[in-house]
Amino acid sequence: MRPWLQKLLKGPSASGGGSYLWEGLAAAIILAFLFCLPRDLFRGTVYSTVVDSAEGELLGARIAADEQWRFPPCDTVPERFATALVQFEDRQFWWHPGVNPVALGRAFVDNLKAGHVVSGGSTLSMQVIRISRGRERTVWQKMVEAVLALRLELRCSKREILALYASHAPFGGNVVGLEAASWRYFGRPASELSWGESATLAVLPNAPATLHLGKGRDELLAKRNRLLERLYKHGDISRETYEGALEEPLPSAPLPLPSLAFHYVEQCPRGVRTQTSLRIQLQKAVEEVAFRRSDELAVEGVADLAVVVIDNATGLPVAYVGNASPERERPGARVDIAASPRSTGSILKPFLYAAALQEGVILPRTLLPDVPVNLSGFAPQNFDRQFYGAVPAAEALARSLNVPSVFLLRMYGVPKFHTLLQQSGLSTLTHEASHYGLSLILGGGEARLWEVTQAYAGMVRSYYGLSSASPLHDPMALWYTFEALKEVNRPDELDWRLIRSVRKAAWKTGTSYGFRDAWAVGMTPAYTIGVWAGNAEGQGVPGLTGARTAGPVLFDVLNLLPGSGAGFGSGAEPGSRRGGNRSMFMDDWFPEPDAETGVLAAVCPQSGYLAGPSCPSPELQLIPAAGLESDPCPYHDNGEFVLPPAMEWFYKPHHPEYSGASSHRSTTAMEFIYPTGSGSTLYLPRQLSGEVEGVVFRVAHHRSDVTLWWHLDNDYVGETRFIHELRLAPSPGRHILTVVDPAGDTAAISFTIAE
Ligand SMILES: [Zn+2]
Repeated sequence: MRPWLQKLLKGPSASGGGSYLWEGLAAAIILAFLFCLPRDLFRGTVYSTVVDSAEGELLGARIAADEQWRFPPCDTVPERFATALVQFEDRQFWWHPGVNPVALGRAFVDNLKAGHVVSGGSTLSMQVIRISRGRERTVWQKMVEAVLALRLELRCSKREILALYASHAPFGGNVVGLEAASWRYFGRPASELSWGESATLAVLPNAPATLHLGKGRDELLAKRNRLLERLYKHGDISRETYEGALEEPLPSAPLPLPSLAFHYVEQCPRGVRTQTSLRIQLQKAVEEVAFRRSDELAVEGVADLAVVVIDNATGLPVAYVGNASPERERPGARVDIAASPRSTGSILKPFLYAAALQEGVILPRTLLPDVPVNLSGFAPQNFDRQFYGAVPAAEALARSLNVPSVFLLRMYGVPKFHTLLQQSGLSTLTHEASHYGLSLILGGGEARLWEVTQAYAGMVRSYYGLSSASPLHDPMALWYTFEALKEVNRPDELDWRLIRSVRKAAWKTGTSYGFRDAWAVGMTPAYTIGVWAGNAEGQGVPGLTGARTAGPVLFDVLNLLPGSGAGFGSGAEPGSRRGGNRSMFMDDWFPEPDAETGVLAAVCPQSGYLAGPSCPSPELQLIPAAGLESDPCPYHDNGEFVLPPAMEWFYKPHHPEYSGASSHRSTTAMEFIYPTGSGSTLYLPRQLSGEVEGVVFRVAHHRSDVTLWWHLDNDYVGETRFIHELRLAPSPGRHILTVVDPAGDTAAISFTIAE
């Protein structure tokens, strides 16, 4: 004994302080014992990223930062594994206080004889301590482990100790913990393991370095079978179970873990277990559709495809394919396209329509101009490069006409719309509104599929009164938006009515400039689906459009979704429109709001504006309340429907019933001086050399200092200022020349160039 300790123990005997010292020493030992165990045994341990579906099933996992498959700890241990483990490792586990003196003494003698550690004698509690400390296996360490195990038993229940063991025991190779082992070796969660499988995993951690599934298989099998025999003799399993389990082969090579929702799993927090809102069966089905469609599109040069599905009742995703076929060899396969900012094309138009309705800027069918226009150098074209003169707003949305949308955005205001999109959750529109200008409605900005789809779902949620987050809150305005998007009528060869017949949806497509981005987003009362197709690298593909490329995927996915009322319980009562989520699953279509939601107003059936005094036969229509403040019909004069000249010019060919041109007054700011009046035939003079000279066109504007932009047919040909003369040499045949001023007023004239 060391002198200082001797002195301390003996103490100053004369003063009788010996007992004081002994008491102090006892207290010190108790304190040391109480504080000897770290608060968190496995502090600093890193875990795998584990991501589960809404049902708690494994979607995917990522290896831990130390390259180990070590799932985050579980609180519980499946009964079969617990029974097998206790039977194999520590039969007195449920009774001993953390240390088993009999087993320890026997091992101590064995080890002394051998001169090194040949036998454990460790309880499961001591093994938990050893795994957590990761020290060498020496007699001294074993004594420390025994003390710490006693302390551990004071802190944790037996079940908690088992859970600590199961979560951190080595299972060979880089597999740590029962749950990871169960998935790697058997492809199932530990809770679903058979007795044979549970017994295999119970014996594996015993000597994982010398004995694992790759080597020593015979010895492993013998150990497992001895354990099964013990379980049988102990009465844990029946004879049938025992004999069946003996027949089970050992697993061979480790299995890959499930890999669903690859890109979604990538976004989940690292090193922890996350339960998501994704529904595993739907996720599988959507992946199947997306992968198949993506393989088809790949042939056309479209490499990347993303699909997201949102449950409108919760606003959370139920399926998420960040990019189809992530395993396929191609650049960009691992890019989560659903989360990448892409040019929006026309996909944001419904938000403008709904907002303009909500704020009374227009009524549902207000005529919007569809004429050549040049706004500060921005000359929008419709997809088909046609102009229709004037189009009802709902129809312009359904047909996705660009020119009326630009007029509508100018009426509504770019800054306001920019703010509205940001409030709707589009986080990528980070520039000032002026940066985008009017092009914002035609794809001048970028957005993420995920956020766009959420914003669409936000409209449905807002409509059903489930969310106050959307800046679009007027149910009447939203309903008219859904209605307009139901009647999609596109100039495609595809027979949409045939495809649509499966299920009703409000849907919109978008195609970005240069055929780089194909969008399709659809809403039913219960779900919102978003699809994007294109190339992550950005190259365009001729023929790529929202309708043709993304649309079919949208409808494939739509057909996967549970039908109205299906799968959501039979007892659900049909609720009111704002009756919460139960009713939305019952709805086949968005129920029309009643007269208490909107207001009844007299509307001019021809112009879609509020009826004015000279509008014949106005119709009563439910409109958003703010619509009462909108403008009255500007196109009826003494009962006659007359459009301004340029609108009329493009409107008339599509509306043979239109006759208003005869008597209308010219209210435009400018007129053609040469040629005068439409329909003239012009002859291009030739020089002596035979070369064709142009003809000089002239316009008068009531203000001389404005800039005018000139369009021949649908092409911009130049601008003039002060003197509005332009020399042109159009090809023989019929032409339309249009001039636009900064206020958006236009003058148009048609003429024929002689052969
Ligand atoms: Zn009218």
